[in-house]
Formats: sequence, C-alpha cells, structure tokens
Amino acid sequence: MRPLRRKKKYEVTQDPTTGKDRILNLTEEEDTLSDQGSVDSAGLHRKYFLDCGCDSGTGGRCYECGAISCTSCHGRCHSCQKPICLEHSNFLQAKGKESIRLCRCCYGSITRKQRLARVGRFFLSLLMEEE
Ligand SMILES: [Zn+2]
Ligand SMILES: [Zn+2]
Ligand SMILES: [Zn+2]
Repeated sequence: MRPLRRKKKYEVTQDPTTGKDRILNLTEEEDTLSDQGSVDSAGLHRKYFLDCGCDSGTGGRCYECGAISCTSCHGRCHSCQKPICLEHSNFLQAKGKESIRLCRCCYGSITRKQRLARVGRFFLSLLMEEE
C-alpha cells in the first residue's frame, strides 16, 4: 500500500574540521491507510553515534584515521599539535605529572630517544669497567 505521507527529519551538527553537516539523528515516519480505514503512523528513529561510540558534542577529526570523536575523547598531540582520536593517542605518564597525549610519530621518536639513551649508558658503563 502506498503511504499517504512520508516524513524524514535529520538532526545534524556541523563538523568543526570539515565544516560539513554530520547526521546525529534521523527520524522517519510513514502514514498509511489501513484496511479498516484508519491512518496509521509508523516510523523509526535512528541515532548516529560518533566514531568513538560516545553521544556528545563533536570534538574533531583524527588526522590519522579520520574518525570523529567527542570532545572528551578527541585531543591534540602535545608535541606537534595534530588532532588525534583516542585510539591513535599514546599517553606518556611522567612521574607526579599529568599524562600527556602524543601522536604515534612523536611518541615513537620520544621512546626511541629514551631507548637509545639507555643503550648509550649501557655501553658507557662497559667502557668504564674495562678501563
Ligand atoms: Zn585515529
Ligand atoms: Zn567519545
Ligand atoms: Zn605529534
């Protein structure tokens, strides 16, 4: 049976990084005439969650995977300031300090430096013993 009326309503928000609309909610409704002569309404309400799975304001888009996260999941790399999602964030916890968020590149270069420094000290200690 052909519906008498169809309704479609989108609730959107503007993506801060692309400036484009992003769908948050979609309401679809259809009115049909039943065999008994009544006008029936049926519909669905679809909810679009953010890529991080949360349902709050958009924080931004990850430069690495393009995922859009909410304001609390989304962040910036402490070192290069690139926007990153929670999944692509690496956290470095310094003693007694707040943990800092780093992108993969910056985290990699920092931990590599730390490892090199440790190896360097190791060799240095070997040389010292030989002398
Ligand atoms: Zn990501
Ligand atoms: Zn989130
Ligand atoms: Zn970085």
